[in-house]
Amino acid sequence: MMTGTAKRRAIVIGAGIGGLTAGLAFAGKGWDVQVLERTAALWPVGYALIMAPNAQRALDTIPGGIVEQIHSLATLQGESGIRTARGGWLSRNDASLAEERYGHPAVVLRRAELVEMLAANLPPGSLRLGTPVAGLDAATGEVTLETGEVLRGDVLVAADGIHSAARAALFPGCPGPVFAGLTAWQALVPSAGIDYQVGTTWSRGGEFGMLPMKDGRLYVFAEAAADKPMPRRTGAEEKAELVRRFGGLRPPVPEVIRRIDEEAVLRADIHSMQVPLPAFHRGRAAILGDAAHAMAPNLGQGACQAIEDAVTLAYVLDRSGSVPQGLADYTAARMPRTSLIVRRSSQVARFATMRNPAGQVLRNGMLRAMGLLGSSAALRQADFVMRWDHPAVAVRPRPPQ
Ligand SMILES: Cc1cc2nc3c(=O)[nH]c(=O)nc-3n(C[C@H](O)[C@H](O)[C@H](O)COP(=O)(O)OP(=O)(O)OC[C@H]3O[C@@H](n4cnc5c(N)ncnc54)[C@H](O)[C@@H]3O)c2cc1C
Repeated sequence: MMTGTAKRRAIVIGAGIGGLTAGLAFAGKGWDVQVLERTAALWPVGYALIMAPNAQRALDTIPGGIVEQIHSLATLQGESGIRTARGGWLSRNDASLAEERYGHPAVVLRRAELVEMLAANLPPGSLRLGTPVAGLDAATGEVTLETGEVLRGDVLVAADGIHSAARAALFPGCPGPVFAGLTAWQALVPSAGIDYQVGTTWSRGGEFGMLPMKDGRLYVFAEAAADKPMPRRTGAEEKAELVRRFGGLRPPVPEVIRRIDEEAVLRADIHSMQVPLPAFHRGRAAILGDAAHAMAPNLGQGACQAIEDAVTLAYVLDRSGSVPQGLADYTAARMPRTSLIVRRSSQVARFATMRNPAGQVLRNGMLRAMGLLGSSAALRQADFVMRWDHPAVAVRPRPPQ
């Protein structure tokens, strides 16, 4: 921790889960924070989110009881897993075992409630909505707003999401995210009277899953392999596509699809970062979340990794008297882990949406064999994701100069 008179200042571009967490993490260390969001209201895309234990452990390091607030908004996942189209288990896990192993269970919560809660914990006046950033200068730490106003920070945090303009400015010529060969649907469905099974079913070329929400609805998600991005379609057409692809699965899937409100079904083509950036910092700027490492959603880790990025960044910069050294530590702590998780997410996506029937038989056999080793063995496979080391461990101490 630096001692001195002037507070250091972090300017964060984007108030998604990554940017808001960065704001909280820096504010928790006594920094002055400005979080700049282009939209006039916080309106996250997507309905719900699984928050894995690693992200909750990261949030535990921020003062203010954020994780307790998350638990009050969330449902525990309970027993869940992956089933075949015929209904047999391919892999099974239990929230209580995850809690024993990782300190927290995986939880499911509404995105809108999560971002509102994160924003409400920021210091008053630190979140500026309706404030699009037009440009940044990593050398000076300045951002220029669309209004022409210029703000200056000790550090700039680019948390502006998958289509990040900041990434293109910081790393010109480096490839951004590309189509991942996947498309995904989300919906919320009333659950009354449905005998639902928590988790996901892997069918030919796709998966269909459902998770209970605190408000009694089911968060429904589906994903399918796609050779090219899908054209924009009406809600009725999206629902018809879900019927076509998943309507033949075992009950209650057909009834769940029937209950989807076609006006509110969301679909997005998935893009991921196949070539990692050369670093997660340039000059006085750091990049985090989807802007840095967009990934397929199949490990449920995009937002979780953004949260880990944010708390790590605030920690390394706060402990270091030097911004360049702190930012180099940030890249060192975050690049290997996030690059691995991006790759594994793509592998799991290919596995989950496999179209070749012979490949599916092989895949299912492998997963069942792993399941025979017991839930703890299956959980151990997730250790590399679910365990989160505090940056004090993840960043090796520097030898004395
Ligand atoms: C179908 C699907 C399911 C998913 N499920 C999960 C899950 O269960 N668990 C999980 O951890 N992750 C999941 N993810 C991934 C997760 O949604 C993302 O990784 C996460 O939301 C990224 O957060 P972010 O803060 O980096 O970016 P974003 O949420 O995209 O936020 C970026 C913000 O920056 C703002 N912005 C952009 N440009 C500017 C500008 N010039 N000036 C000011 N503001 C700007 C935007 O308006 C936006 O508010 C899923 C993704 C998909 C597609």
